[in-house]
Amino acid sequence: MNNKYKILVIEDESNIRSLISTMLEANGYQVIQCETCDSAILLFESYLPDLAILDLGLPDADGLKFLRYVRKDSLTPVVVLSARTDESDKISALDLGANDYVTKPFSSGELLARIRAALRNTRHCNDEGRLPGGKFVLGEMTIDYDARRTFLGGEEVKLTQTEYNILAFLSEHCGKLMTYSAVIKEIWGERADDSSIKKLQVNMANIRRKFGITPAEPKYIYNELGVGYRMDHSV
Ligand code: CA
Repeated sequence: MNNKYKILVIEDESNIRSLISTMLEANGYQVIQCETCDSAILLFESYLPDLAILDLGLPDADGLKFLRYVRKDSLTPVVVLSARTDESDKISALDLGANDYVTKPFSSGELLARIRAALRNTRHCNDEGRLPGGKFVLGEMTIDYDARRTFLGGEEVKLTQTEYNILAFLSEHCGKLMTYSAVIKEIWGERADDSSIKKLQVNMANIRRKFGITPAEPKYIYNELGVGYRMDHSV
């Protein structure tokens, strides 16, 4: 079958690497594996995978070296595997262009969900683009980019300009975890300051309330505490 997604698995711990590979193959993906950063770059060039799963702690270099290399001229989704609990590593990987991360130990369900979201995000960008006249649909939520209006189950949801800008930005990166600083930079730009994170949280609370999203029933927008927000299909 040639229509299988090709996934490059970059992980030096052989038991984790084979676990991931077996799980991916069982789910219909084609797998290419390697254990060093330099071999990952070579394999990336020769196989042009649809997605890469990247361990940050590699024997020859920091996994971020691979990420920087890929992002020089490619939007291929990269999902980072991190044993580190330090939030700053995840945030620097995301700000360098990683699509998402999972922290070890992770469940196969969690990794598969992150992979599907990252692949969806790429398809969305490739097939539908971010045309100003386009519409974005996620479950019951619709965004009309041209009219700058939003709907839930056909009913209009009135948002402020800032709320709309945040929602539209996340939707353009649907499936990708966006750090707080990436959202703040996009929305407030030069006017960003120490109070921006608080403003972002207040706006996000309003967006959730208007779309009837409660902590008991999370949907559309997920918060990775201390890291950022991801818009996605229900997990
Ligand atoms: Ca490692």
